[in-house]
Amino acid sequence: MGTYAIAVLAGDGIGPEVTAQGVRVLEAVAERFGHYFKMTEALVGVAAIEAEGDAISHATMRLCQESDAILFGAVGGRSGGRSGGRSGGVPRMGRDKAGPSYEGPHSGVQPERALFRLRKELALYANLRPIRPFDALLNASTIKADILRGTDLLVVRELTGGIYYGKPSEIRETAQGLEAIDTLVYTEAEIARIVRTAFELARDRRKKVASVDKANVLSSSRLWRRTADLVAADYPDVTLEHLLVDACAMHLIRRPASFDVIVTENMFGDILTDEASMLAGSMGMLPSASLGTRHTAHGLFGLYEPIHGSAPDIAGQEKANPIAAILTVALMLRYSFNLKEEARAIEGAVERIVEAGYRTEDLREEGKKVVGTKEMGRLIVEAVRG
Ligand code: NAD
Repeated sequence: MGTYAIAVLAGDGIGPEVTAQGVRVLEAVAERFGHYFKMTEALVGVAAIEAEGDAISHATMRLCQESDAILFGAVGGRSGGRSGGRSGGVPRMGRDKAGPSYEGPHSGVQPERALFRLRKELALYANLRPIRPFDALLNASTIKADILRGTDLLVVRELTGGIYYGKPSEIRETAQGLEAIDTLVYTEAEIARIVRTAFELARDRRKKVASVDKANVLSSSRLWRRTADLVAADYPDVTLEHLLVDACAMHLIRRPASFDVIVTENMFGDILTDEASMLAGSMGMLPSASLGTRHTAHGLFGLYEPIHGSAPDIAGQEKANPIAAILTVALMLRYSFNLKEEARAIEGAVERIVEAGYRTEDLREEGKKVVGTKEMGRLIVEAVRG
């Protein structure tokens, strides 16, 4: 019997709706396998700004630091502005075309700052996004089923460096008018640790790594490629392929099944993982794990979140697909708690329910049964119980 401390940060919009289903599934796992998951809830995002004056309070940061893992929902107050949340990078500057992303008594504070602080301060440098479209959902993707069949890939994205963090990053006056600058900087050590993470993960999979860069143009990419080759020498059992990012974008939809582990820098990973998410049919299907170097008594500390945002357009309507949040829990069990059988029990339960023909609104299909968020959660909980 193990005891595991989890900080539950459900956030905004559909965040609390889908996280609640993830929590129910964890409770079912606890019951079936005899574990104790000590879950402590706290506010993040708009909810925290309104109640506590910041997107994440110091007390919540402390709670996260003292936990074995973080279960995160989504943050954000309106649709269409994902640069801050997804890039893990730079809080937006003031207003964009759509206006401020949060209007309220503390409008200077961005809800996405919560994720930014968590990733940076907890040194969560490795973002893992596994993509394995279920056979039963092959027709839900915009890509042909024949191309998708057999796809089972893992994108390992560097999360705390690169152009989202480099300084200077500003728009400035010059004698010729305004100019803008962003800085893409990587150290050899930053590259080596993320590439090593990818090789370690590949050893437990099909032993293939595709390292993605733009070495024909960028100095940072030339260092990336050289460092990847050096790391590869320690893993003679794993094959390394170098791909330019533009070619990789094409191959992802031309031959997705040929990839095993893809490793890349922050911005390339940001863009490629959105593209790759479409292989699985819906944003509501994809989980992610963000890992660092801190070890707890149970394994690697990590932050676990679905890849989607707060989806205010469907919040409160029972339309959100909770599967990404539920699969996120499976990743937590696997990577932070080393509970592989329990993780497989969740993944198997999800697959059985999808195969049985249950779908949320985002995956509506002729002849299938459309259910709401809570009902989908209930069905998966029952399947986990066996
Ligand atoms: P989004 O991911 O919230 O939604 C994009 C589209 O996908 C919407 O049509 C939405 O209805 C749909 N969708 C998303 N998740 C779904 C689910 N589980 N089930 C069914 N449909 C789902 O992206 P957006 O609309 O660009 O952004 C909304 C807010 O979320 C913004 O404030 C943005 O900054 C924030 N955001 C946060 C995160 C995060 O917390 N990690 C990530 C992305 C966006």
